[in-house]
Amino acid sequence: MLSRDDVFSELGIGPVWRLREAPTAPPTPDASPAYDWEQLADAVAHCTKCKLSTTRTQGVLGVGDRNADWLIVGEAPGADEDAQGEPFVGQAGKLLDAMLGAIDLARGNKVYITNVLKSRPPGNRNPEPDEIAACMPYLLAQIELIRPRLIVALGRFAAQTLLQTDEAIARLRGRVHQYQGVPLIVTYHPAYLLRNLPDKARAWEDLCLARRTYQSLAPKS
Ligand code: URA
Repeated sequence: MLSRDDVFSELGIGPVWRLREAPTAPPTPDASPAYDWEQLADAVAHCTKCKLSTTRTQGVLGVGDRNADWLIVGEAPGADEDAQGEPFVGQAGKLLDAMLGAIDLARGNKVYITNVLKSRPPGNRNPEPDEIAACMPYLLAQIELIRPRLIVALGRFAAQTLLQTDEAIARLRGRVHQYQGVPLIVTYHPAYLLRNLPDKARAWEDLCLARRTYQSLAPKS
């Protein structure tokens, strides 16, 4: 798994996208990101850092409340998302909306949804390591801008990328991790749940854990 330093040094990321050193404490209110949403959206729209730029229709940055408490991170846009420019608008997205609704959340209301990859892998194949590395700065920038209070990683790619681990999702779910001081909960990807109904019960446990964790947090400063 690539470290953040590997990501930056191998990919020659321009200064505006080079994030400060990873903070060891939770983001503070006076931390000022070195970029803004407009720059980020423009960079994703015109990104050619990996081969997916030659096959995608458009980059899919994310959707929702830019001041969200909850950041939901999926894997990559599929065909519907590539066409519409919004994450999780297909079948998996409908299930995600239902999952959020079950814990009294809704897309756009205290929730921001994005993916590890901003471009669709052809045929919905798995993301490749070089693609994840190329796209990682965009996700890091989103985290820095949003300063979420809780992160939910949907599926293996989001979980392993954010936690920098190769551990299987079955071992990562069911507990509270930390991403730079922000609690991070891992659960199954909605597309996986559509094919594996018995694991929906486990996903529900994960969502309840996320809600309990959120409720235990002090208000955002
Ligand atoms: N699956 C994902 O991981 N993200 C989407 O946006 C859609 C499907």
